[in-house]
Amino acid sequence: MACWRLVRCPACGDNRFGTYLWGLIQPPLSGEPVDRLGREEVRFTGCVIDDETPRWFCQSCDADIGEDGRLIQAVSEPS
Ligand SMILES: [Zn+2]
Repeated sequence: MACWRLVRCPACGDNRFGTYLWGLIQPPLSGEPVDRLGREEVRFTGCVIDDETPRWFCQSCDADIGEDGRLIQAVSEPS
């Protein structure tokens, strides 16, 4: 599971994704290219992680995608 890579957005089929970073982020993430990623590509989530916590988001349609590649419905936005 750790090496699983998302290939296509399950919602729109695009292949440009951003990554959700989970948990507490400590600014110097050694070895991680975080500082050359903009807000378009990285979002931070809180520390509470459950099965519905997205792992990626689609840069095209803004869909939230879980670690197993399935579409996650946004619970905070009923639209
Ligand atoms: Zn998409």
